[in-house]
Amino acid sequence: MRVLVVEDEKRMATLLSRGLAEDGYAVDVVGDGAEAVWAATEVSYDAIVLDLMLPVMDGFEVCRRLRAAGRWAPVLMLTARTDVADRIKGLDVGADDYLAKPFSFGEMTARLRALLRRGATERPAVLAVGELRLDPAARQAWRGAVELELSPKEFAILELFMRNPRQVLSRARIVEHVWDFAYDGTSNVVDQYVGYLRRKVDRPFGVEQLETVRGAGYRLRDTATVDPTGGPQTGDPPAGGTRRDAPAGPAV
Ligand code: CA
Repeated sequence: MRVLVVEDEKRMATLLSRGLAEDGYAVDVVGDGAEAVWAATEVSYDAIVLDLMLPVMDGFEVCRRLRAAGRWAPVLMLTARTDVADRIKGLDVGADDYLAKPFSFGEMTARLRALLRRGATERPAVLAVGELRLDPAARQAWRGAVELELSPKEFAILELFMRNPRQVLSRARIVEHVWDFAYDGTSNVVDQYVGYLRRKVDRPFGVEQLETVRGAGYRLRDTATVDPTGGPQTGDPPAGGTRRDAPAGPAV
């Protein structure tokens, strides 16, 4: 396993690289943010231990740039700060875990092992499917440059679709992920909400990206096709078998 250590304090950098090397890792050390971005773009590291406070470019920016460039090596962020806002920001820009200094070397390596088990799978901080983009942290979504005004439930449904593009999602699955146990209505409510969503996400743009898969559910396509109906409609016919005696609408 090859690890990149990004730390400008010499003593700490030496401590980390020596300890990790003793544990059998191949370790490279860089001392500023720009070098970190360069190294992590050149080499496919299995994990990155990234200090937050760095010369040239801080750890937040390093992380943001790597994720934007499609580099998904797990990032363990280190910092002297104990500010909760920093931890939140670090995770939101794409770090996978966070450790505040001073920390025990044992805990650091345990966290590193946990990250290595997960591997460098794609986990973008901002989701993108075709022209649609959604930032779960900022609670914002856009089609192209236009920001979409979505209710919390509509946002949750769109997020679920964007985390599972090209897959058919059944009504039951959507209910399971978006509503809680307190909701005891039927899956008919899904049709209703998908209808709301289309009226905000697809119809005003004359496209049809969120499609009905008859008898199965709904699917978010990669690219938006032109809406064959040519504009807004009232209601979406359920794809069979759904009941019409559901409550008018759940609390959102
Ligand atoms: Ca530092």
